[in-house]
Amino acid sequence: MAKKKTRTPARASAKPATKTRAAGSTGRRAAKYVYFFGKGKADGDRTMRDTLGGKGSGLAEMTNAGLPVPPGFTISTDVCTIYYKEKSRIPAAIDAEIRQNLQKLEKVAGASLGSTSNPLLVSVRSGAKFSMPGMMDTVLNLGLNDEAVEGVKARTSNGRFAYDSYRRFIQMFGSVVLEIPKAAFEHEFEAVKHETGAKSDTDLDEAALRRVVDRFKRIVKEKTRRPFPQDPHVQLTTARDAVFRSWMNPRAIEYRRIYDIPDHIGTAVNVQQMVFGNMGDRCATGVGFTRNPATGANEFYGEFLINAQGEDVVAGIRTPQPISQLQKVMPHAFKQLRTITSRLERHYKDVQDFEFTIQDDELYMLQTRNGKRTGYAAVVIATDLVAEKLITPKQAILQIDPEALSQLLSPGFDPKEWKAIPVATKGLPASPGAASGHVVFHADEAVKWADQGKPVILVRRETVPDDIHGMFVSQGIITATGGMTSHAAVVGRQMGKPSVVGAGELAINEAGRQFTVGGQTVREGDFISFDGLTGEVKLARVASKPSEILQVLHGEMKEKASDIYRRFKQILTWSDQFRRLGIRANADQPDQAELAYAFGARGIGLCRTEHMFFGEGRIPIVQRMILATKEQDRRAALAELLPMQRGDFYGVFKAMHGEPVTIRTIDPPLHEFLPKREELMVEIATLEATGKKGSELQAKRDLLHRVEQLHEFNPMLGHRGVRLGITYPEITEMQTRAIIEAACQLAKEGVKVTPEIMIPLVGHVKELRDQKAVVERVAADVMKEQGVKVKYLVGTMIEVPRGALTADQIATEAQFFSFGTNDLTQLAFGFSRDDIGKFLRVYQDKKILDKDPFATFDIDGVGPLVRTAVELGRKTRPDIKLGVCGEHGGDPSSIHFFEKVGLDYVSCSPYRVPVARLAAAQAALSVKVGD
Ligand code: PEP
Ligand code: MG
Repeated sequence: MAKKKTRTPARASAKPATKTRAAGSTGRRAAKYVYFFGKGKADGDRTMRDTLGGKGSGLAEMTNAGLPVPPGFTISTDVCTIYYKEKSRIPAAIDAEIRQNLQKLEKVAGASLGSTSNPLLVSVRSGAKFSMPGMMDTVLNLGLNDEAVEGVKARTSNGRFAYDSYRRFIQMFGSVVLEIPKAAFEHEFEAVKHETGAKSDTDLDEAALRRVVDRFKRIVKEKTRRPFPQDPHVQLTTARDAVFRSWMNPRAIEYRRIYDIPDHIGTAVNVQQMVFGNMGDRCATGVGFTRNPATGANEFYGEFLINAQGEDVVAGIRTPQPISQLQKVMPHAFKQLRTITSRLERHYKDVQDFEFTIQDDELYMLQTRNGKRTGYAAVVIATDLVAEKLITPKQAILQIDPEALSQLLSPGFDPKEWKAIPVATKGLPASPGAASGHVVFHADEAVKWADQGKPVILVRRETVPDDIHGMFVSQGIITATGGMTSHAAVVGRQMGKPSVVGAGELAINEAGRQFTVGGQTVREGDFISFDGLTGEVKLARVASKPSEILQVLHGEMKEKASDIYRRFKQILTWSDQFRRLGIRANADQPDQAELAYAFGARGIGLCRTEHMFFGEGRIPIVQRMILATKEQDRRAALAELLPMQRGDFYGVFKAMHGEPVTIRTIDPPLHEFLPKREELMVEIATLEATGKKGSELQAKRDLLHRVEQLHEFNPMLGHRGVRLGITYPEITEMQTRAIIEAACQLAKEGVKVTPEIMIPLVGHVKELRDQKAVVERVAADVMKEQGVKVKYLVGTMIEVPRGALTADQIATEAQFFSFGTNDLTQLAFGFSRDDIGKFLRVYQDKKILDKDPFATFDIDGVGPLVRTAVELGRKTRPDIKLGVCGEHGGDPSSIHFFEKVGLDYVSCSPYRVPVARLAAAQAALSVKVGD
């Protein structure tokens, strides 16, 4: 499954009451911590996932529905919180409540824990609100000891089964509760198999299993210096505590971090009477889905094992059989399973992921929950459920994680092939998609290889605007440094290129054209592959295939021929019926704008004009403009750029069919357009060493001089944004002229245009006033020259804290605000957006930050700046247009915040537009403006 960072609003819905209160004898109400289920009646139900966890609430709901569920009780998630608060102790009152429920269970089950003749055996299983498959611990067959095992043997007349259960119990209890490495048990088990000539686990007879049990007990004695605990009540309390402890094991913590599950919610513990899938050939255990979770196809999907217990299916020791086989070997149980799971799907109105056990042909349900699925399956299932009238379009929208749509746009690897190769390293998953190609270390090299028709992966310590051509031709981009809004990440997403950034374990030697990772050296031309959705990098070639959606949008495939495209379109059409926020795209090339429009963007929220300066043949002109020492020379260079910019704007306007296009005047510091100081010094030294003099050497020296003049200690806080326009008004003049000339030309052709000219990095109203005057003067001149009038707006980015705090003053000049949340985050935290990759992971590990604030908007710290600016801006100018164009504009949880503060639109890279459309609909359905 994909990286899932955002909870759907359905999951984030209001917390149900976490405690059901029971009347106490004093008239005071005591909190309830343990919930019974059994005999067709349960204390809890499906609405109580906060308290009972997913598994517990599913068991309660199934019990209430009269389904065959072994009885048991759920110890609530609140107890987990108490366990940690009380330093690993459970208060006596809760212990007493557990004991009462145990007695009730013994009564219902007709067996008792610790009895030698008729022992109750239970499973002790974890179960948090959000499923965390395999991350926490479980103990099965609890209640067995040296005497009870004989009791089980006598009652079932099946010694093999009794000792198989006992050896399983000692191993699970030993590893989970006593923390003995599993390998110690596995080693002995294999040894007995070897000694007895058994090929499979089921070949072991009672005598062999007794031998296994003896050896396992010996391991416990050796490792813990105590015999294996024989008291079932001690077994139960220690197993319960071990399950609570497993909430904080490293893999569970990591899982929660990746999937954005809060640490504080805790897990419930389910204690349930055992039913046995390992009692013989009329017994089985299995797992399944009501629909295929990989493709979404409406087919019963799953697998099972005869004569086995649950862990055998997941452990992969024996190969399970496809569930269709169950129909042949146990038709009665299969039919019952089919009927029950279809009923569950109708009841929950979603695909169910279930676990079952068959004991002597009798079916028992052990779990049901909404199934996890791939992005592809999510779209197929939601559209199918609507077609089957099981859910409404509104419910379908709330059911799909918006990230699912971005998965549909990415090329994919064959999952089997991908899994077979080890992970070399992991970076930040900046832009989704599968990429495979030859490693190159320089942008020019990337172009050379690509020209020969070879797929390349551009691997750099970091990328700079100068690398754009190399990035463009690459299959994907990997950088060793940088965070989620570093240059590589932003451009990668905008281009729809798979990208992984901040892969800090890569030791890159760009000059030597190689990198090392984990002791392996990769040279230029070697093949690597990576998944931009997970950040995993592998040192091998893996074949990928392009997304069908893009094939349709690019006209390479007919809409009619693509089932998934039609479903994708349907989801977005439904989304548009519910969303309030407008959706625009960040694009600066006509082809990007066209794609954004095809994806449903209705407007450009940010056209970064400086990207156009890197177009073919332009850089030398831009450099001449920068090198000019006299205004007159600068103007001459700008005059050469003018027709080029005008052409760009013409193309972008046209692609947007009259929708608004926000064009930002130049933003980055000028040195970004010049070569690096070190590179120039090497070139000059080489020319000098080869005795070359003349104009080339002089030109390089002049360039170096200017590069040194432009050097800044903190370029992000330096001579950039509006400060450039103020010092070189001729740049703003040229850009305004290009914009308005393009607009006039289109107006003359009868094409509607809506330009919005945006000044970046404004912190003081006077900065904007200065630049607005230039824009208005030039615009008036151009319109007079052209004899056409076009309507245009002048506004600003709000991306400097001072700008946000004085937004009432700025709004006297600005007709619109666009929140530049990348810079606003950078300046609010004081974290460099290009360097955060170096320490973010440590911040997250130490729980200083939950999430990367450059990927998910920081509502607590940066949020107040946006709220303030919205309020102040509207106070001065009630109809001021408000949008966001930072990377957060394409992030679902951030979009919820932008909905709440009442922005008019969000703008994001073209490939995020579908995600934003769906997320905006979910936001409109689950939060209110002004909340
Ligand atoms: C921003 O700062 O949020 C923004 C959109 O501008 P840029 O990323 O180009 O600095
Ligand atoms: Mg910015």
